Amino acid sequence: MSPHNHSGRTIRSGRGRPCPIDDCRREKDGDCSWTADGEQVFCHHARHDIKPGHVIGDWAFTGNTEDGRCAHFVPHRERTNRTHRMTIVTPSSKEFSDPNPDQKPAKQKRPSITQLELARCTPIPPTELKADTTALDSRAPKGQLVCTWQHSPTQYVERWDQEGGKKLFLPHHLVEGVWKTGGGEAPWRVYRRTWETPIKGLWIVELEGEKCSEIAEGAGHVAISQPGHARKVGLIVDRYSELVELGCAGIIYIADNDEHGERKAEACREAAAQVSLPFVVVKAAAITPGIKSKGSIDDVDNPADFIARAKQLAEAELLQPA
Ligand SMILES: [Zn+2]
Repeated sequence: MSPHNHSGRTIRSGRGRPCPIDDCRREKDGDCSWTADGEQVFCHHARHDIKPGHVIGDWAFTGNTEDGRCAHFVPHRERTNRTHRMTIVTPSSKEFSDPNPDQKPAKQKRPSITQLELARCTPIPPTELKADTTALDSRAPKGQLVCTWQHSPTQYVERWDQEGGKKLFLPHHLVEGVWKTGGGEAPWRVYRRTWETPIKGLWIVELEGEKCSEIAEGAGHVAISQPGHARKVGLIVDRYSELVELGCAGIIYIADNDEHGERKAEACREAAAQVSLPFVVVKAAAITPGIKSKGSIDDVDNPADFIARAKQLAEAELLQPA
């Protein structure tokens, strides 16, 4: 999938979202598509029995696409007594049959909250988990140091895996040249390795924990996570304020498939509301039905696909009448 083409502007058919063209109404899969602004439909059935200008319902046929694969429709403008709004139904089922964003031309100019575009970055490989290191030092708990995530020049987090499968996340901070355990006094920003990448007018994805946000970065998405030791709403408000100042258009929060995930999502939602940052929670289980308990992006084969589905679900949520 080519990640840069028109992401955020196309909606695909699917269960609960039939093709708007009356003689098609396809919803068994994602083969028909339309732009979120309601200006164009690409119906999977190329038409050879009608001529350009032929009207079906509210839509006027303009011809088949060059590759002959789709019929192209635009709103039938003569009906001034009717609006051209399409019925876009939020899927009743959590299943999406075609997660790939459409690559067809979509020319439209009216961005609104119903169309979101994700901030992209050059893919950054996730921080490598350490090979079998068992080195223990004075500040180390019993167990294995698995990973170190550098949050800032003066802050990092270590993950230790302990016997019995327990994971320990230890923040460290630098005080006058000496690393100390604990979060320290200085505020922690969101964890993000793409501070150089502009996010003005764009949405970003938030995941739980450094490991998961790095996987999203590995797929070329600007992604964030909260430092695990400092998740109070007020602290998140400060972090989100910074994103608002950078012009961030909103956050798609992907919640892990467990109760914990939903509680964390709620704290973030509350914080986002305080700084008027658009915020949509998408549950991992809605993106990947049947995902294992506690599952997230680190349990899927194709993270780019996972995020594309999350975006579809977020858009469907935003398109819901208030
Ligand atoms: Zn169709």
